[in-house]
Parts: sequence; structure tokens; C-alpha cells
Amino acid sequence: MLIVRVEGRPQDERVQRVLQHLHALRAPRPVLMEVDGTTALLVEADERRINPDALRRLPGVAYVGVSDKPYPLASRDAKPQSTTVEIGTLRVGGDAPPVVIAGPCSVETRSRMLAAAEAVKAAGAHLLRGGAYKPRTNPYSFQGLGEAGLQLLKEAGELVGLPTITEVVAPEDVELVAQYVDVLQIGARNMSNFRLLREVGRSRKPVLLKRGAAATVTEWLQAAEYLLAEGNERVILCERGVRSFETATRNMLDLAGAVLAKQLTHLPVLVDPSHATGIPDLIGPLSAAAVAAGIDGLIVEVHPSPAEAWSDGAQALTPDLFRQLMERVNAVAGAIGRPLGGAETDQRRVANLA
Ligand code: PEP
Ligand code: MN
Repeated sequence: MLIVRVEGRPQDERVQRVLQHLHALRAPRPVLMEVDGTTALLVEADERRINPDALRRLPGVAYVGVSDKPYPLASRDAKPQSTTVEIGTLRVGGDAPPVVIAGPCSVETRSRMLAAAEAVKAAGAHLLRGGAYKPRTNPYSFQGLGEAGLQLLKEAGELVGLPTITEVVAPEDVELVAQYVDVLQIGARNMSNFRLLREVGRSRKPVLLKRGAAATVTEWLQAAEYLLAEGNERVILCERGVRSFETATRNMLDLAGAVLAKQLTHLPVLVDPSHATGIPDLIGPLSAAAVAAGIDGLIVEVHPSPAEAWSDGAQALTPDLFRQLMERVNAVAGAIGRPLGGAETDQRRVANLA
């Protein structure tokens, strides 16, 4: 695969000129990825037919080279600098401070959703989570409230002033779910649902792509490639623990895999210490470790009353424990020069709302 990096956006003359040049050589139409004002063109062509030097001489062409990665657009061959994904005014990745996503596993009742939203906002979280379509291992477990859950999540997010994220489990639901939230989540069980990946790729919404519990780092990055190849460049990766021989923890947090993904790709990488461990007492220490390792953020399950939760209650943090986690994470983020900031201001904003 040939990668051509051009300064400018796809509609700019410089990019158009490269496209015309390739067309004249009868090269297949390239796949385009535009991020942060530069365009990467991926050409499935025999390099012998294309003279790289002629391409390099075209205005705006910053790089021409061959990518041997099975995920060329996600790799740093297509974009050496880290990508920052914008969610409204919130920035994820690049030089942005770590972001914290928090909220219940599932949207349950209105009062619980509002209580969770207020608690996580007051503690300084940046995004509100809550599942409305739950991919449960057991068919008799609570499957989520569906659209009614999306409405409650949206209402709670608006009330406390937080953008929202929820999981989408089926290609036919993407359009509806995208109307309610700011970020779509693709869960571990669906990382290899290629029709879902393509549909979310076409939606252009920011997306959090979790790593499958038995997926290699390469397979995870290839799943991200599906999203990028469809034109959605706002992809955030999330390591959530992998299956191992160990039964003492729910999964095994592959922090090495998460840091490796950050080195191999330009995309932001988050860590989910809740599903990775399943144990509230481990979530704070592993959050601190992930932030210390340069991870771009966390997604943590928080419930106003974990014992009563309809899903994943055993791993949910209480609002109190979440506040302690935020203090710890803030201290570590400050120590590595990426302070979270804003928690105090946010608390004042919530107080003003009440
Ligand atoms: C979740 O976030 O509640 C969830 C189901 O996560 P995962 O896909 O990582 O299991
Ligand atoms: Mn969960």
C-alpha cells in the first residue's frame, strides 16, 4: 500500500492535483483520511506503476512511502503526529490532558441517571456514560432500556452540562443512537462486527472502539482501520482487559498493549479499569498507572448505589470512591505535566445549577 501525505484538506487544490496525477496513471481511486488539516491518501497500487519522485515534486506533498502495516490509515505511516479528537469543546489525545468518562454501566431509572450524572460531574468527569443497549452474555440479564434509556442519558447530560457516550450494538441502530449522544461506543463483544464498524464509520460521530477480550493489538487496530477507511477519522481506542488464565480478576489489563497501541497509531488510547479488573479496589491504582504511562483517558463505571445496580454493580464505584479516584488521577496527571484541571470550576457550575 502506498501512502501519500498532502498538506491541506481533500477539497484543496493540492490534494486534487495529487488525485488527478494518480488518475492519469490509472491507479485505483485512493482512500482518503483527513485529520488535523492534512490528508493521507492510501493507494492500493503497484509502486512500479507510480513514480514516487514525481509525486514528491507535486506541491503540498509532504511524504510518499510504502506502508507494510495491515492498518495503514491507523498507523503512524499515514500520520506521524498524534491525533486529537474533538468532542464539542473537549479534546482527546495529542497534547490534551487525560479525559475521564464516568457513569453507570446501564441507564436504569431517571433518578439514578441524574444522581450519577451530578456525582460524576461534581467530581470533575468530562463525559457521561450509560448503556441503553447492553450486549449481555446471558440472554436473561437486563438488556437495557433502548431508546427510553437514550432519552434519559441525553437529559442527564444536558442537565449537568456533560457530553454523552453510549454503546451501539447493531448497524441498524446507528442512526437513532447517533441522534442522542456525542460519542458512539463499540463494545468488546462487537469489535469484530464488521458491518457495525462500517456503519459507524459512515456516521462521522466520534467513536470509542473497545478492544475485544481475545483480540490481538493488530486485530484491534485493523478494526479501527475499518472506521477510518469509511471516512470516520474521529476514532478513540480503549483497552478494557483481555481474557487470560487468571480468574482472580474479571479480565487482565493489558497496559503494555495500550501503550504499544499509542506508539503504533496516531489515535488516542483510553483505558477501562472497571471492566479490566471487575474489582472496585483495583480501579484507582490501575487508573493512576494508566495515566502515569501516558494514556489519554479513562472510562470508569460509577453508580449512586452499586448494590442495587441492574448490571455490573460489583465493579461500580460509589460517588465517594470516584471522587477519590479523580484526586489520585489528578495528582498523577499533574506529576507528568498533563493536569486535568477544571474540577473546581465544574463543581461551582453544578452548584449554580442546583
Ligand atoms: C460496558 O462498557 O459496559 C461494556 C459492556 O464494556 P465492554 O464492551 O468492554 O465489555
Ligand atoms: Mn459494564
